[in-house]
Order: sequence, then structure tokens, then C-alpha cells
Amino acid sequence: MSADPEIEAAGHASVRFGDVTGRYLIQTFGCQMNEHDSERIAGVLESGGYLRANEAGEAEVVVLNTCAVRENADNRLYGSLGHLKPLKDRNPRLRVVVAGCLAQKDQGLIQRKAPWVDVVVGTHALPGLLDLIRQSAREGPQMDVREFTEVFPSALPARRASRHHAWVSVSVGCDNRCTFCIVPLVRGPQLSRSIGDILAEVQSLARLGFVEVTLLGQNVNTYGRDLTVPGSSRRPLFAELLRAVDGVDGIRRVRFTSPHPHDFTDDVIDAMAECEAVCEHIHFPMQSGSDRILRLMKRSYRAERYLGWVDRIRRVIPGIAMTTDIIVGFPGETEDDFEETLRVTEAARFDAAFTFQYSTRPGTPAAGYEDQVPKPVVQERFERLVELQERISLEKNQAIVGQRVEVLIEGEGRKGNLKGRTRTNKLVHLPGHLDPGAFVVVEIMAAHPHYLEARLFAPSNAASTGPASSDRVPVPAASGAPAVGVSVLG
Ligand code: SF4
Repeated sequence: MSADPEIEAAGHASVRFGDVTGRYLIQTFGCQMNEHDSERIAGVLESGGYLRANEAGEAEVVVLNTCAVRENADNRLYGSLGHLKPLKDRNPRLRVVVAGCLAQKDQGLIQRKAPWVDVVVGTHALPGLLDLIRQSAREGPQMDVREFTEVFPSALPARRASRHHAWVSVSVGCDNRCTFCIVPLVRGPQLSRSIGDILAEVQSLARLGFVEVTLLGQNVNTYGRDLTVPGSSRRPLFAELLRAVDGVDGIRRVRFTSPHPHDFTDDVIDAMAECEAVCEHIHFPMQSGSDRILRLMKRSYRAERYLGWVDRIRRVIPGIAMTTDIIVGFPGETEDDFEETLRVTEAARFDAAFTFQYSTRPGTPAAGYEDQVPKPVVQERFERLVELQERISLEKNQAIVGQRVEVLIEGEGRKGNLKGRTRTNKLVHLPGHLDPGAFVVVEIMAAHPHYLEARLFAPSNAASTGPASSDRVPVPAASGAPAVGVSVLG
């Protein structure tokens, strides 16, 4: 019996389809970047003859793909590892692998605290995963936490979680130093892929029937800063990349995440406005509305400049939906600072926001700041911010009730309904039976802060390569939680 041949031999990897070696299970924590890394980990394992398991008890390899960005990441990791220990005791052939940002950050500490971990593989070392697993069976625990990316993960095979939507990595790492963020430490400096390489992947996805791609980078606006255009000394720009991906036949929706407001430029807004497939949604991380706190965070824009971008984007792309990230209770945040955040949130009228209570991330500069805000104060501010944002989200959603918009069906939703997304990235529930990947036009019937209810109006023109013109600018945008997981910062 051979492994499932349907894994995508993305990029230029040579994929070995051997006999079945065993079964694997991956548990993913964290952002879209980690979701996509897990697709690559699955692709690498399947190229080595592993098949997916339904539960840890039937797996020969269990991978915990960790995140160091979120609160209590290490507690969650060691909790999961604790659950695996009895399995490992019963089945010594089981390989326990810790991958991802926490593996990169904690390195040898993981195997010291959990000696039943067979492999620790950092964010730059995924290409060697199969060898590490085999070596661990012969020689005992292995670790590879090299510091730099030598092979872009996109050159590895992938087992995509969806058959119509694909994450496409355009860069890894980040050159910024936001004081709350662990990413530069665990993902390293920014490394961009060439436009040609990215386009080849998107074209290959289109040939496989994918209709939507999300371009992924920690700070997509600085895409290409570390490259030169072949034959010139010029750097490729993110706007050029957007235009190039927009031109790929068969890709009807292009999204990206996340831009950093500091590096945002007019040419990106113009490209968004002019490219038919680029969706009318932007995730635009604000983090705080207080200039003083932005300075402490080492975010180099200020509130009025941020609001200026918000206005400009909405003027050029009417109907665009805007989502954001906001941290409450950053060290030193006073009531006045927080009220500034409320003021800017009210002024920006985001469609939705990822709101976070600040908590220390060991290894980040802010973890050492002395004036940490007491937990009850953070909690109280957080609740006020959530209440404000929920009201705004509901108002924005109510404004589109009665309108007809295009929805891409994602699969089964609540109570046997379908769920899908508008071009503005709003979650829509509707009754019916349709395959994931189908485009339909729906009529919005009811609004809630985080989703919309709709009824099927008509199938969309599945053959067209761009959105139906009536859906190009769907309406004043409504709220919905962003597509998957949590944001990729920016
Ligand atoms: Fe980079 Fe975003 Fe982290 Fe800032 S928050 S360091 S821009 S990844």
C-alpha cells in the first residue's frame, strides 16, 4: 500500500512516495502561519509514507506545532505533552515531536522538562524533519533549532487543509522590534520569496482547482525589501506582487495578512482598488490608540496617522471591511491611554477586532517593564473595549441586511447550516447543501456582531475569473471574525 498521492508537491521538492510507514497526528497552536506550517509538516510526513491518524492513540508520530505568541503557550504545550506521556509509556515506538515557535525559543529546555519528547524541530529546520524522526528511533532524542532559513518551507510538499483556499507564504520573519512580540526572536529576520516562486505556487494551486489564496507574511508591506528584481538593482514591491497574483487565471479571491501601518503605502491601496481578485478586506493592526503606548511598543506610527490611513483606504476602496488587533493593559497604560484607544476605535469603526489582554511574553523587551497593569484593571478595560467593538460590529452588520453579496462556501456551519465568507471576509450562515468552494449570491437576512444570516439568492458565475461586478464592492461592510485562527501580527 502506498501513501496518498494527492499531497501537493509544492515548489521544487522531490516527493518520495514510499510504503506506509505509520500514521501521524498534528496539533496546531497559534496563527495562520502555524496553520500553514502544519500543512507543510503534514506534506513532509506524507512524503515519507505516513498517513493521517484520527487520534493520538493510533499514531506513530504526534507533532505539537507550537506558538510562542499567545499567553500561556508553554503551559498549553506541557499540558499536551503530559497527556502524551502515558501513550509513549505504552508505545515506545511513538515519536513525539515539538515544532514551531516555542521549539525555537525553548530549545533544550523542552526535552529537559519532558524527556519523552523525541524531536524538537525549530521554525527553520522543517526540511530535515523525517531524518530527525528516523534518527531519534535509532539514536535517541534529537533537536535541530538552527537560526536561519536555508530552505523556504514553501519548497516542501503540503497537505492543504482546504481544497479551495490556500495559504501562500510570501515572506518569513520580521525586521521590526515591537516590544511585546516574540516573532523576531523565533522566526528571525525577514526573508522574502521571489515573485516568480510565489507565482509558480499560485498558478499550480489554480491548476489544482483552488479559487482563493491568502498571502502570508509577518509584515507584508516590507515584502521584497531583502530582494532585487532580476536584471536590476530595484526591489520588488508588495503592490507588484498583488498585481501579479491577481493575474492568475482561476484565482477569484486574493487576501493578505498582515500589513504594518508604519510601512503602508499608497501603491498597495491602489493595487487593492484596481485588482479584481483582491478582496475588499484589510486586517490593519492598530495595537493601541495612545501615542505614548505606541511609542513604548516601538510601533512607529501615531494614532492620527493611523486614522489618516483608515480614511484614505476607505476613500479609495469604498465598502472595504477593516479589522484590527488591539492590546489592552500594555505596561504603563493609564486610564487616559486606554480612553485614547476607545476614542480611536470609535473613530476607526472597525468591522471586527482581535482584542487581547496584555500578558508578559518571556524573551520580549516589554516582559521586563516594571509598571505592569494589575489584572483586574486590564480585565475591566478589556470588557469596555469589547462592548464598544461589539456595538460597532453589530451596527456595521445591520447596515447590510437586505443586500445581495457573493459568498464562497467553506463547508458545514452551525446547526446543519452552511457557512461561507463574503469578499469582505464576513462569516455568513445560510441553509442549504452546497460543496465547499462553490460561489453563490446570497441575500443578507439578519445581522449579529460576529456573523450574518442569509438565504441563497443565486449561484454565482463559477466560470468567471473575477468577482461578479455586483459583488465587487459589496456594501458598507459588516462584521465577522477574520477567517481562521488569530492574526499573523504585523
Ligand atoms: Fe514584527 Fe508584527 Fe511582531 Fe511587530 S508585531 S515585531 S511587526 S511580527
